[in-house]
Amino acid sequence: MIKKIIYVACLLILWTNSVWAHIQDLRFSSDSDTKARFVIDLESKKDIALFRLGDPARLVIDVKNAKFVPECQTKQFTNTGFISGIRTGTPDGQTARIVLDLPNKNIQEKHFILPPQAGANWRFVLDMEIVGGVAAAATTNATKVGVKNFEKKSPVKKKVIVLDPGHGGQDPGAISVSGKYEKDLTLKMAKETKKMLERAGYNVVLTRDKDVFITLRGRIQKAHEANGDLFISIHADSARNRSAQGLSVYTISETASDKEAAALAERENKADILMGMDLGEYQPEVGNILIDFAKTYTMDQSAKYAAEVVKEMRKEVQLVPNAHRFAGFVVLKSPSIPSVLVELGYLSNKQEDKALQKESYRAGLSRALVRAVKTYFANTLE
Ligand SMILES: [Zn+2]
Repeated sequence: MIKKIIYVACLLILWTNSVWAHIQDLRFSSDSDTKARFVIDLESKKDIALFRLGDPARLVIDVKNAKFVPECQTKQFTNTGFISGIRTGTPDGQTARIVLDLPNKNIQEKHFILPPQAGANWRFVLDMEIVGGVAAAATTNATKVGVKNFEKKSPVKKKVIVLDPGHGGQDPGAISVSGKYEKDLTLKMAKETKKMLERAGYNVVLTRDKDVFITLRGRIQKAHEANGDLFISIHADSARNRSAQGLSVYTISETASDKEAAALAERENKADILMGMDLGEYQPEVGNILIDFAKTYTMDQSAKYAAEVVKEMRKEVQLVPNAHRFAGFVVLKSPSIPSVLVELGYLSNKQEDKALQKESYRAGLSRALVRAVKTYFANTLE
């Protein structure tokens, strides 16, 4: 009998979780220059996830198994310096998503759920506070903010992919068994990939399009100037062990995944030291704790793209074991642009060197990078 009760209870929980709830209303109010409240009125209790994105600053609220009543999506709010835009939509058909555009990063938030009182709705309450002394814009010059549906947003801004051909100028990078330079291979590969990405509808910026030396910091700077959405640094590896071969993809980490990865990062980072320049750490302009939000998100996104690259490259070429690795590459230290570094293969391996010098072989690699870019953006929040 007890079993039966548990069974029924489980079914009931499953049922209440899968049943749809309506979002009845979205409300916004501010009663001082530094505090405001955003409320979501819910027909029943639902799982809610809240996360923060940097650059531009946004708060994203996902309500599982929920739909908006139409009135929600045509509401108008008075912008008092806390929100500069509100967008709604149902990205996967099951989750009601609300995106709050924040005018700056000095807004901190707290949230909680209130049960219904006297027949009213469940309420998700988001309290916002401006910290650091920047008060909200005076209500007198407040503007109206209307809820927009982000799915109907148009025209869609073209994504900017920054391709970074490793080395250049006085820095040849690795030298292959047949005497070819890494810097020439990476430039060819970048130019070929650029064409393919452009055909697929992306804007592409190269950190260099000729044989010149650029500092690692200069490369990051170019990516920022170009407003890059994704940064891909292209390299080729070399090892004393001539039989070493395979492609690998790196994302940033303070601690390298193994000794080999650490040694590689050290070699690639050396470019600036060789040229008598200060290697330096990439210093974000804002010494703000909120930069960590952006950083965490960027690292997360970098890992997502790296995973797609590994998946697509596996269809084309041999990979090294555990092909997604981590190391402290200076060139990947952008706090706000998801960045990966691809080591196309080993120039110290006779067969791989020969293959990499062929345009048809590189075309396979470029196609895999493009497929990974498409999947990555298809799964990324606007
Ligand atoms: Zn390199």
